[in-house]
Amino acid sequence: MGPVPPAHYRCSACGNLTRFDVVTDRRTRAFHHYSVGGELVVEEEQILSQEVVEVSCRWCGHGRAVEILPVAAEETAR
Ligand SMILES: [Zn+2]
Repeated sequence: MGPVPPAHYRCSACGNLTRFDVVTDRRTRAFHHYSVGGELVVEEEQILSQEVVEVSCRWCGHGRAVEILPVAAEETAR
């Protein structure tokens, strides 16, 4: 499974396209590599699944007017 392409959002209340608070549930698998001294290095982190739970506009303070814009990958696939 590859990484999920980031979505684009628009707030139709204020026209904001660039500032959002996004809450995501993400499940990952990573290689935890401990040194002899016990220090942890996290390597090879893989996103197994992720789901956007909530998107809110930074300016309005809520997500009631936030729309998800069509993903560009769909357009280039044709
Ligand atoms: Zn807004």
